[in-house]
Amino acid sequence: MSEVQTVQGAVDESELGLTLVHEHVRFRDEAVAAEWPDRYDEQLEFDAALLAVSGAKDCGVRTIVDPTAMFGGRDVGFMKRVADQTGVQIVACTGIYSYDYLPHYFENRDVDVMADHFVEDIEIGVQGTDIRAAFLKCAADAAGVSEHVEKIHRAVARASIQTGAPIMAHSMPAVGTGPRQVEIFAEEGVDMAKVQIAHCGDSEDVEYIQGLIDKGVYVGLDRYGLEMYLPIDKRNATAAELLRRGHAEQLMISQDFCATIDWFPPEAAEVFESQGAIRNWSMTLVFDEVVPTLRELGAMDDESFNTVFVENPKRWLTA
Ligand SMILES: [Zn+2]
Repeated sequence: MSEVQTVQGAVDESELGLTLVHEHVRFRDEAVAAEWPDRYDEQLEFDAALLAVSGAKDCGVRTIVDPTAMFGGRDVGFMKRVADQTGVQIVACTGIYSYDYLPHYFENRDVDVMADHFVEDIEIGVQGTDIRAAFLKCAADAAGVSEHVEKIHRAVARASIQTGAPIMAHSMPAVGTGPRQVEIFAEEGVDMAKVQIAHCGDSEDVEYIQGLIDKGVYVGLDRYGLEMYLPIDKRNATAAELLRRGHAEQLMISQDFCATIDWFPPEAAEVFESQGAIRNWSMTLVFDEVVPTLRELGAMDDESFNTVFVENPKRWLTA
């Protein structure tokens, strides 16, 4: 039996239970929040996080994997307060969420030094606490795998090899970043069973996703509700096809929900909803709508439900 680090300490893998593998209890830019703290309402953020996580708990969720890294305002103290209050386990990460920008601090230090920072978070603790990160996060988006993005990927890979921690990589199927991300991990010698390529479900190109599955990685169908990237029915069609092809063991289904996010002014949420850019985006959407639809389509049964929402997150976290 393996143990997994949560913000409340290590738990046995058997304690993870029903897991949402990609949700954020809060997402904000830590630099803006540090410079203009009065622009943020901590109580409102905390209440929103409690509401979202409690909703998931009511659906049976016992664990939330929160891949909020540097530049997403990672705050393990905040995560722990949410976990303490709700009784839902939260799994934190280390890494850098950047589509290209790197602070001079990391630009002028080499890959192994960057990796050392991640290793410290995994082996000792995050942000001066004894809360340990359980996995590594990196990202590639519209800018593609730039020099800085590649550096972060290599540092994440080396920290994974040194510690055994798994990796989650944000990807952008529209510009086909996934294969290059996988290639970098392979060049660094990472076991593909430790790798999760997030946001593959933004594409309805099943063969693109199949190509990644064939490499042995997990693929994230993890942005349900973000219609701006792909509507729910198209996401379901992709999920159903991959399940029918027998790939349940490599699928991660989640929502990438952010209980609060500072990317847009507060009034934007309503506009997005009214314009159909988001629809029913929440921490319960996959249980409210997606799983029932996949069951109706005959693509998901109790066994594959358990595989996707219990066994896969556990196998990935303990790989
Ligand atoms: Zn995310």
